Amino acid sequence: MSILVLGSGQLARMMALAGYPLGISVQAVDVADNRIVDPVTKQIINNSLDRQIEEVNAITAEFEHIPEDLLELVHTSGKLKPSAEAILTGADRLREKKLLEKLAIANCPFEIVTEVEQLDAAVAKLGEKLIIKASRDGYDGYGQWRLQNKSELPALKDTLSQLDLHKVPLVVEKMLNFERELSLVAVRGSDGDIAYYPLAENLHYQGQLHVSIAPAPHVDDALNQQAQEIFNKLAKSLNYVGVLAVEFFQIGQQLLVNEIAPRVHNSGHWTMQGADTCQFENHLRAVKGLPLGSTKVTSPTAMINIIGCKAFSRDMLSIPGCHLHWYGKSPRKKRKMGHFNLCASDYAELGKTMHALAEYLPIENFPMLKDEAQRLMKL
Ligand code: ATP
Ligand code: MG
Repeated sequence: MSILVLGSGQLARMMALAGYPLGISVQAVDVADNRIVDPVTKQIINNSLDRQIEEVNAITAEFEHIPEDLLELVHTSGKLKPSAEAILTGADRLREKKLLEKLAIANCPFEIVTEVEQLDAAVAKLGEKLIIKASRDGYDGYGQWRLQNKSELPALKDTLSQLDLHKVPLVVEKMLNFERELSLVAVRGSDGDIAYYPLAENLHYQGQLHVSIAPAPHVDDALNQQAQEIFNKLAKSLNYVGVLAVEFFQIGQQLLVNEIAPRVHNSGHWTMQGADTCQFENHLRAVKGLPLGSTKVTSPTAMINIIGCKAFSRDMLSIPGCHLHWYGKSPRKKRKMGHFNLCASDYAELGKTMHALAEYLPIENFPMLKDEAQRLMKL
């Protein structure tokens, strides 16, 4: 059994590692040059893309920004899961917004901008605090600009006038004052069966995910149900197969969709230690048409991204419940180098474990850890 993943980064790597025990071998396409690589060793596999597509049982993607010709090629093979339509929807904020509107799913108020002059009307409609997002090729907060007040508008227009907004329009969103960010990671099998992980609470710093806590504290049945109904609508309408992540902003008891990710997701990495079956295994199961695995939580877990850090000592592994996943990438500022999963018997213990971990780590790379540890200890 073999599966080809479009993209050869850490998500393909973690899919490959999850596939081993099941006897599923995972290869990856480096989308920069269409070469086939082993996503764990990064060794080049001497096979052409066409032959590899022919030989594998199924094809999936680790990210949504797939070059058009490659997506078309794998689409025509009939082996791609989730579908090209689902991947294109996740890759393009305009398509995404259209789908949310069509399905009457609450989301952040927005305007589409294809000429910088339209920004004045957007400010008049949405207010002066805005987040401006390129409709394609953004991730981890890249391809985003913020407007804090009207006086910054001329400078922002200058910056944005350098872009071809007809080719890549902007989605201009009202900057929301939400209480917190949550995400739902769930998996839909080829028979339409769905298994949900619990909502995770996500802490961002400078537009980038730093910490996820799962299950999210203070989630009642109604909130869970709201999230799952939104997931069902989206997954059904896309005839979705595989893991799909939905990012939310919570305001009171209302969830607004921020965006969707048609793939395994960073806010689901906690499942590697905190759930019966991790998101990577469940994605492979779905794509292969196998029965889905239990998503039962085995312990409250915190996922902590290691961002922009060079290699460091592994001494923190003496902390009970501390697990390290190191991706083996060369360091760069803001690059995700790996993550920790911390497991504990309850939130208070999790807070203590997080506090202990923080002692081993440079605060500049982990700016949220100590405060979050304090918060958990008080839950
Ligand atoms: P990622 O790849 O991490 O998911 P992204 O580049 O796809 O990020 P978004 O998820 O749209 O971009 O935005 C990144 C973060 O910026 C959000 O998680 C949130 O913290 C903040 N953000 C985005 N949109 C808004 C908004 N309308 N109001 C307030 N904050 C926002
Ligand atoms: Mg996001």
